[in-house]
Amino acid sequence: VVEKGQPERSVITTCAYCGVGCSFRAEMKGDELVRMVPDKNGQANHGHSCVKGRFAWGYATHPDRITKPMIRKRISDPWQEVSWDEAVTYAASEFRRIQLAYGRDSIGGITSSRCTNEEVYLVQKLVRAGFGNNNVDTCARVCHSPTGYGLKQTLGESAGTQNFDSVMQADVILVIGANPTDAHPVFGSQLKRRLRQGARLIVIDPRRIDLVDSPHARAELHLALRPGTNVAMLNALAHVIVSEGLLDQAFIDARCEAADFARWSAFVGQAENSPEVLGPVCGVEPQLIRQAARLYATGGNAAIYYGLGVTEHSQGSTTVMGIANLAMATGNIGREGVGVNPLRGQNNVQGSCDMGSFPHELPGYRHVSNAEVRAQFEQAWGVTLQPDPGLRIPNMFEAALGGSFKALYCQGEDIAQSDPNTQHVTAALSAMECVVVQDIFLNETAKFAHVFLPGSSFLEKDGTFTNAERRISRVRKVMEPLAGKSDWQATIALAEALGYRMDYQHPAQIMDEIASLTPTFARVSYAELDRHGSLQWPCNDAAPDGTPTMHIDQFVRGKGRFMLTGYVPTEEKVNSRFPLLLTTGRILSQYNVGAQTRRTDNVAWHEEDRLEIHPSDAESRGIGDGDWVGVGSRSGQTVLRARVSERVAPGVVYTTFHFPESGANVITTDNSDWATNCPEYKVTAVEVTRVYQP
Ligand code: SF4
Repeated sequence: VVEKGQPERSVITTCAYCGVGCSFRAEMKGDELVRMVPDKNGQANHGHSCVKGRFAWGYATHPDRITKPMIRKRISDPWQEVSWDEAVTYAASEFRRIQLAYGRDSIGGITSSRCTNEEVYLVQKLVRAGFGNNNVDTCARVCHSPTGYGLKQTLGESAGTQNFDSVMQADVILVIGANPTDAHPVFGSQLKRRLRQGARLIVIDPRRIDLVDSPHARAELHLALRPGTNVAMLNALAHVIVSEGLLDQAFIDARCEAADFARWSAFVGQAENSPEVLGPVCGVEPQLIRQAARLYATGGNAAIYYGLGVTEHSQGSTTVMGIANLAMATGNIGREGVGVNPLRGQNNVQGSCDMGSFPHELPGYRHVSNAEVRAQFEQAWGVTLQPDPGLRIPNMFEAALGGSFKALYCQGEDIAQSDPNTQHVTAALSAMECVVVQDIFLNETAKFAHVFLPGSSFLEKDGTFTNAERRISRVRKVMEPLAGKSDWQATIALAEALGYRMDYQHPAQIMDEIASLTPTFARVSYAELDRHGSLQWPCNDAAPDGTPTMHIDQFVRGKGRFMLTGYVPTEEKVNSRFPLLLTTGRILSQYNVGAQTRRTDNVAWHEEDRLEIHPSDAESRGIGDGDWVGVGSRSGQTVLRARVSERVAPGVVYTTFHFPESGANVITTDNSDWATNCPEYKVTAVEVTRVYQP
């Protein structure tokens, strides 16, 4: 007999919000989910959770869920519900018509970091084997693509070096461009525990984030740099380490390329990279930079954690390489308590990159031009693969506006809302002849779609997510898909309608295929995941139990490679018309564009995006706390409510981006990272004017 309110059974699964990847016990009564309880055996969270994972799952059964496939010939037509067969047959016939008319490369696909590894793998396989091109990209393009590039260049692998528990061995923690309290709350709490035990904290961030003044866990140094000057700051830190002889020369000699180190140390050692020259560029006292460099280099085990405040810049990849340079120069890599640790925003950013959803890389970060690698996939998939990289997301938009890109399959990603310069994105979508959107809600991108395939929530899926520490964890089905098909089954149906057969009965078989073709996943299977609880890749014959710490005896690329990191100021300049710099971030109680958290009503959620403005900037504009203000940039304008706050420095304003109607992406620019096209969301020159008082 089951007591009222008591669960009858539970299923262990993984949170679908941030890159911490907390494990939960989904407790069920009949077919109903009654609560999510953080799993004490969870290897990323050890029984902890934040408000989102614990409570924000009601969106999965929200009335806004679309559960029937729909089509319409023109976007001005009303949607018509159809069968799955009709929807995928129509989509496939449009894709084929368009390829016949405009060429093989006129169509492409976008994968989502919210979907499972298996789903992402299938979409890139569909594009490569079914569409016959490499026009596949992932939403990691707009967040952590510079991490993939920068860490591969320097260390040889596109991933963070440590597990989260490693922070408990750190003596010095450097947080740059990240706000773990709000964006990675369970890891943020772990980090604070280590600070309470005596570790010392350096924060490099334009904003006075919670960690700067958190009780009993506050930062020893806060370098409140001007947005857009990360590279200048890292070069100044490196200058101090080189010029004051704080290098770990034995580590460098044993582990790094000598010629690259010589070039780098000569470069950062120049007077033009000194704190006295670059401090004013960053808006930070040179003496503070010197103190930070000495603490990082000499304070014992030093670990760096960074987030989108590093990557979403025109020099995002350069900044990532600068971070890796610092870690190598001081020997802070290759053991517990140190390392270079990207805090991934979405639950499966790491996985979506691992699974080959970049236009230049097959699963496992292997370049499409590598004939040997291509041959393995060609044999397994029974097709001929293209050797040239395909289009990145921004290139797809450009090509659509130029008339050569005509159709898109977009799974689980709302590009009309989350990509920069909304007007440009919507114009590109409008120019396409067939847009297929697969999502759980009719999102903004669906306004431009001709086919809508209903998606499944994480509660309706079997699969895996890979978190920020390369930890592969099982996602287990809690309820049947409301639309009758899981996302992986929908992709298979679309592939088969295109004439390309995919033969899987369960996602476990997809993982088996991934493991057979991806050396870093070679020993990963659902049976091994069940046995271990989770596994951190690389997991293969050399590391059958996975790899918590990377680069222990040697770097993945062999010797570590110092990269030159010249500072190039962003093109986004302040002037008399746009005198303030806007930067953006997250708040604990919302998630990204709010599609899920705003459809969950069992807790009190943060209810609007506000614009933080320093009291001096507010006063000079006659703005009071709570006033509505206009925020204008070279790209567009929007209206937000002001919060007068000393969390931001004079000349800097800040907002969150959880309410798309607030229009943060209407005002961001087209600037992007030179290496990866990751948008420069974090630096926009704006002016703020009072609109009216409430
Ligand atoms: Fe989910 Fe991240 Fe919160 Fe953990 S910290 S419960 S993964 S949102």
